[in-house]
Amino acid sequence: MIVICHLGCLLLLVTGLGVPMALWAVLLYGLRMLATTAIYHRLITHGSYRAARLVWWLGSLVAASSGQMGPSWWKAHHLQHHSHVDTPRDPHTPLRPMAGWRGFWHSQVGWLLGPGFHPETLPADVEADPVLRLIDRLHVMPVLALAWLSWGIGGLEGLGAFCLSTTVLYHAVASVNSVAHLVGDQPFATGDASRNNRWVALITFGEGWHNLHHAFQGSVRQGITVRQGQVVLLPDPTYRFIQLLKILGWADGLRQPSERALRARSAG
Ligand SMILES: [Zn+2]
Ligand SMILES: [Zn+2]
Repeated sequence: MIVICHLGCLLLLVTGLGVPMALWAVLLYGLRMLATTAIYHRLITHGSYRAARLVWWLGSLVAASSGQMGPSWWKAHHLQHHSHVDTPRDPHTPLRPMAGWRGFWHSQVGWLLGPGFHPETLPADVEADPVLRLIDRLHVMPVLALAWLSWGIGGLEGLGAFCLSTTVLYHAVASVNSVAHLVGDQPFATGDASRNNRWVALITFGEGWHNLHHAFQGSVRQGITVRQGQVVLLPDPTYRFIQLLKILGWADGLRQPSERALRARSAG
């Protein structure tokens, strides 16, 4: 689906991209990025907060429309990343088996084109939920439905806007795996190559604070660092969104490390 979306961007060379469809592309990017970061990653994979089952299902439906597979596939690969970070068993590290530009390509795109595409095992908790399992197996349907809706709203230009949004979204999410393991600072002693990168954090609504995330995987807030012994909060729109879910009564049990734990893990 992602390859087709890359090619689909060419439609815009013929149709052009006006303001309404550009806004549509931005809206689709924002909603699907939030579903990926707040639901696939922080809720389903790491359990950094509790949420109503409807949030799991609707969030997964929206996240699956990104063309980045279903919740079982996503969680399986991401847990493998955390378990074997930056070793040969890490599915998408930019450092092994090759580094440099080849490693970057492998991390950004290449790993999806090889045998590593299929996860070793699927997460039992996601598999035990029949709705999530259905979304996982039929993960192409939400992508097609959103493409069809975009075409209905804006014709070929709408379809091109959908493809552009999906392509940029893919590369933004992938930049957490690639760029945020190559460029940035390491305020926490994690023993891996994970980094805090403000530009990745900007385009991924807070997921670029990746060194904090590897240090405290269960933290609902990733925008936290330690500077000269002081805990400093960083912009984290995904965390704000989860706070909104809490205010609406759809989420609770938000987990965060204590200041003492943060300072103890600080590399400074
Ligand atoms: Zn990582
Ligand atoms: Zn993670």
